[in-house]
Amino acid sequence: MRYVGLTTIGSVGAVVAGLLVGVTASVTPHLLPTATERTAATFIGVSAAITFGLVGVPLALLVSRRLKIVSEAIKETASNGVPRPLPGGEMLSGVTHRLDRAIHAWADRCSSLSASLRTAELRLSVCEAERQHAEATLHSLHDAVLVTDAFNEVSLANEPAAKLLGFELSESTHRPIDEIIPDQVLRKMIKEVRQSGVLSKQKRIEHSIRGTRLNEANARSDYDVTIACLPDQKQTGVGGVVTILRDITRQKEISEMKSDFVSQASHELRTPLSSINAYIEMLIDAEAQDEASRQEFYQIIKAEADRVSRMIDNMLNISRIEAGIVSAEKSEVDFGKLIHEVLETMQPQARAEDIKLIDRTGPLIYSAQADRDMMFQVVMNLVSNAIKYTPEGGRVTVAVENDDESRSVLVSVSDTGLGIPPDAIDKLFDKFFRIDNYKRIAKGTGLGLNLVKHIVETVHKGSVGVSSEVGMGSRFWFIVPFEFQGG
Ligand code: ADP
Repeated sequence: MRYVGLTTIGSVGAVVAGLLVGVTASVTPHLLPTATERTAATFIGVSAAITFGLVGVPLALLVSRRLKIVSEAIKETASNGVPRPLPGGEMLSGVTHRLDRAIHAWADRCSSLSASLRTAELRLSVCEAERQHAEATLHSLHDAVLVTDAFNEVSLANEPAAKLLGFELSESTHRPIDEIIPDQVLRKMIKEVRQSGVLSKQKRIEHSIRGTRLNEANARSDYDVTIACLPDQKQTGVGGVVTILRDITRQKEISEMKSDFVSQASHELRTPLSSINAYIEMLIDAEAQDEASRQEFYQIIKAEADRVSRMIDNMLNISRIEAGIVSAEKSEVDFGKLIHEVLETMQPQARAEDIKLIDRTGPLIYSAQADRDMMFQVVMNLVSNAIKYTPEGGRVTVAVENDDESRSVLVSVSDTGLGIPPDAIDKLFDKFFRIDNYKRIAKGTGLGLNLVKHIVETVHKGSVGVSSEVGMGSRFWFIVPFEFQGG
């Protein structure tokens, strides 16, 4: 409608202008002096008006209609994205043809642009998903990870890194490492690796770092630190550095414990073995001249050999429990009965030392789910110690009770023996610990109580303890839950 209106207004304007020329010419004698001139002018004006009226208006209507069709075609193409063929027609054929081509080219361009846009959007969402995935992986890691850029500023870090180095994770991005890493050696290493400019450069060291939090301010932990270069955007130079810190404190402790154990075990084994060796040499050299002395030597050799064998058994049992490869054979253990059997077994030894064994188990049933053989060994070790470290004429009492509140059985072995000095109480259950002054009183391995602790606490999830007074005696106890809770 707009095109029809405009072109019609233009044509009507032309007719009016022609008529105006004619009328003006006929009524203005001062402009055209002669009547012939005025008549001619009027004729020309009127003719022009008629010509424009007859030709201009239809032509304008025709042009406007074509323009309207063209405009609608363009509109439709723009909204659908599918080019609509433009109408031909002689008058506008040149224009519409060119427009048609331009529109087609434009539509092609549009569709290829929207395809590229879709591809770019897809790539962007893939990149975003990958970034989120990488970040989630980084945050789920146990190791501390810190990524720094070419300016030695933090670009990425995870919670363990923030905890270890003592910075706020949410405020760490773009902060220089000089501000957030308190450890000078670590800062220096990161800078050195980045400055090397060699992409393949990687540094790996063991380094101990002081705790940054208040409660562990003085504790040092050992870390396996790996620092590697990251490529820049062109993949040619060094764009940053990734630092990974793995806590190996526990690992180191375990390997130290292992080597301590090996050296202690070999030391402890050497003592009975050298004693066996010495007595055998004396027998070979015929130093025992009578049968009684020879018998005495044989007894000593046997006792030392038994000790070695016990020590090896204990060491194997302890290391199996520590390695988690011991499986308990669970059954309902009647502790009253079990204690009775232990006391029967130990009676000859106690009698030899003139020690009275007292059974305080009572008439009730005291039972819990446990490995019977292991429990037998626990009670046996405690009773055996009580007899060993109680002077002649003393008493060893074994009692048992049900603790309904904690749903467990409590067994105690009390003696009227030497007692334990307060400074030894904490170390009593450690491997190879023996009270120096008591070494000459009884031979031992220093592993019995450690095995007791492992069986009760590690295997049965119970607990052991001791209370003692030097010169008065000791009371060892252990608790085993009614229901088996171990593995
Ligand atoms: P051992 O084979 O030497 O007896 P244990 O591990 O069983 O090894 O005991 C460790 C040490 O604890 C003993 O060497 C002894 O010094 C002390 N000890 C254990 N039981 C008693 C007890 N009932 N009274 C006094 N000391 C004890």
